[in-house]
Amino acid sequence: MRLDFLPAATLELNTDASVAEARPVNPPPIPLPADETERLQALRAYMLLDTEADADFDLLAELAAALCGTPYAFISLVDEDRVWYKSRHGRAVVQNPRQLDYCAWSILQPEGLDIADLRQDARTALLPPTVGPNAYRMYSGANLVSSSGHCVGVLCVLDTQVRQLDGRQRQLLARLARQVVALMELRLRDVELEHANSALRRLALEDELTGLRNRRALLAELEREFNVCRRYGSPLSVLMLDLDHFKYINDRHGHAVGDAVLRGLGGLLREGLRQVDLPGRLGGEEFAVLLPGSAAEGALQLAEVLRQRIEAARFAGAETLCVTASLGLASYAPEQADAAELLRLADAALYRAKLGGRNRVAC
Ligand code: GH3
Ligand code: MG
Ligand code: MG
Repeated sequence: MRLDFLPAATLELNTDASVAEARPVNPPPIPLPADETERLQALRAYMLLDTEADADFDLLAELAAALCGTPYAFISLVDEDRVWYKSRHGRAVVQNPRQLDYCAWSILQPEGLDIADLRQDARTALLPPTVGPNAYRMYSGANLVSSSGHCVGVLCVLDTQVRQLDGRQRQLLARLARQVVALMELRLRDVELEHANSALRRLALEDELTGLRNRRALLAELEREFNVCRRYGSPLSVLMLDLDHFKYINDRHGHAVGDAVLRGLGGLLREGLRQVDLPGRLGGEEFAVLLPGSAAEGALQLAEVLRQRIEAARFAGAETLCVTASLGLASYAPEQADAAELLRLADAALYRAKLGGRNRVAC
C-alpha cells in the first residue's frame, strides 16, 4: 500500500516531568457510519475502485482547487479498509488506510467535514497527515452521495495554510461534488452499455448450444472469404457436415443426450481445427467449416481426418454412443457466381455422401 502521508504519530514522549498526565498519542478511532453495509454496496456498484486515471474526474478536482484557491484537491472513495483516490490534484496519493484519512470522518456527517486548522480538532490533530513537515492545515470536503443516498466518497480540498473557505466556496464545492457523482453514474452507464452490447453481439452471432458461430455469422464470414478469394485468387473450401441418424439418437436416448452430442461435436470442431479454419453451426445437426487457404485436395484430407475423429469420439454426456457424420466438400472455382453457390455445391456433395451410405466424405 503506498502512502503519501507521513508516518503515523505512534508515540509522542512527554518530556515535561511536572505534567502528570500523558497527552493522547494516537488519533481516536474513526467510527463506521450506520449504513456502512449498504454504503459499500453502493460504492462497489459504481465499479470505479482501482480504475485508471480519468481526465474528466481530474478536471473536476482541478476546478475544485481553483474555485477554493487551494493547492490540493482530491476525489476519494471510502472503501472498507482504505480510502482510494480516483483523482489527485497537487499530490500523488494513491490510497490511505481508512483509519488515517480525513475523508473517513467526512462521510460520517451529511454536510461533510470543514476544518480550518486540523491541529485544533480532536478528530484530526493526531492523524499522520496533520503532523510533521509539509503537513496539511486545512481540510474541506463535500460528500459524494450516491443516487441511493449513501456517502461513497468525498470531493475535498486541502491546504498547508490555516484558512477557512467562504460560504460561496463551500456551496460551489458541494455542487461540484454532485457533478462528480453525475460523472460516476455516467461511467457506470458506459460500462453497463458495453456489457449489454457484447452480450447482444454474442447473442446475434453465437450459437447458444455449441458456442460456435451461428448461421448468420457463418454466412457473413463465407461472404467475406469468398470475396477475398475472388479478388486475390487464394483458395477456399467449404465443408458441410451432418450427423447421421441423429433423429434416432434423440428418439432412443432423449433430447438431452442429443444436445450433449451436438455440444461435444462443437468442442471437437472448435479445438480440433487449425486457427484459420472457421467452424459454425448452420442449424439442427448440420455444421459447416470454412477453410480459407485450402484447395480441394488439402480440404479433402482434412475432411477425412475429421470424419474419423467424429467416429472415434465419445462425447461427454453421451459416452456410450458412437456417432458418425457425412461430409460434403466444395472448393472455390472462378465460374461460381457467389458464396451461396459454393455453399449449395457443398450441400449437394453432402447429399451424395448420405446417398452413398453415410459416414463418408463426398466432393
Ligand atoms: P440423416 O442421417 O439423414 O441426417 O438422418 P437424421 O436423423 O440425422 O436427420 P433428420 O433431419 O431426419 O433429423 C434431424 C434431427 O435433429 C431431428 C431433430 O429433432 C434433431 N435436432 C435438431 N436440432 C436439435 C437440437 O438442437 N437438439 C437436439 N437434441 N436435436 C435436434
Ligand atoms: Mg442428420
Ligand atoms: Mg440434417
